[in-house]
Amino acid sequence: MTPKVVRRIAELREEIAAYRRARADAQVGLVPTMGYLHEGHASLIRRSAKENGLTVLSVFVNPIQFGPNEDYDRYPRDEARDLQVAEEAGADLVFMPSVTEMYPEKPRTTVRVTGLTERLCGASRPGHFDGVATVVSKLLHIVQPDRAYFGLKDAQQVAVISQMAADLNFPAEIVPCPIVREPDGLAMSSRNVYLGPEERRQALILSQTLSQVPGWIEDGMTEAELIVRIRGRIRSQPLAEIEYAEVATYPDLGHVPADRPLRESREPLLVALAVRFGKTRLIDNVLLSPPEVNSSCFGK
Ligand code: AMP
Repeated sequence: MTPKVVRRIAELREEIAAYRRARADAQVGLVPTMGYLHEGHASLIRRSAKENGLTVLSVFVNPIQFGPNEDYDRYPRDEARDLQVAEEAGADLVFMPSVTEMYPEKPRTTVRVTGLTERLCGASRPGHFDGVATVVSKLLHIVQPDRAYFGLKDAQQVAVISQMAADLNFPAEIVPCPIVREPDGLAMSSRNVYLGPEERRQALILSQTLSQVPGWIEDGMTEAELIVRIRGRIRSQPLAEIEYAEVATYPDLGHVPADRPLRESREPLLVALAVRFGKTRLIDNVLLSPPEVNSSCFGK
């Protein structure tokens, strides 16, 4: 069924309230996105549609999570295509607010999650996670879902939002969902359209390198050795500029001892990368969980 497009907060609230009134066992799922939807987004929508009677997809390029020199203005947008993906994946309501609907004036309230936002993307994108936490808390308040779905492609974001939901008693369950990849391994991203053909080819080094990480850890590598190996592999592609390559415990994003074999970790480990190809910044990661610390989403 064609999803209903809603652009006003008041109307969205009315639609959801009407649905809840009509169904005693009503369950509402929220999938927040910035649009230009791909199969990664579709997987979140499908999961929500399976687990909830009503799925609300939000499409909003949130200006306050972009830095001054980032790609807010040129971020890809295509409403017609997004509605087609939304329909195929099973969204019921598509919330597409304007910037003034979400921010009628400059907000004086910011939601900041401390401790989880200083490393990785938080270090290279100051203020980014404040913008994300603020807009997601607004969406959670507007929709009041039973569940909200987030992709582990942005594993740090999942950690930040889960912490925020716990700290601020949002009743929604935060549901992490696996990374969806192109057939050749590149993690799907709206930003992949920025890549020129040669950049696209070289960008494969991210998933190729990450797919080897479980084996390297199994072989007994320490953090220091792993980072040297990863950096070396990525640098084999001349267009790749590494922003960071880091290992963190997950979901608390703590540091691991640099000189102990990572396979001895008793906590899940996140190995995360941010790499630029020309003007395009790509992120990717692998999450490994003990005791095996070698099982991952790759190839399983
Ligand atoms: P974005 O539109 O990029 O802000 O992403 C919206 C949601 O989709 C976030 O929870 C992302 O983590 C998730 N997402 C984006 N790309 C992927 C992917 N390749 N696999 C799984 N989830 C994804």
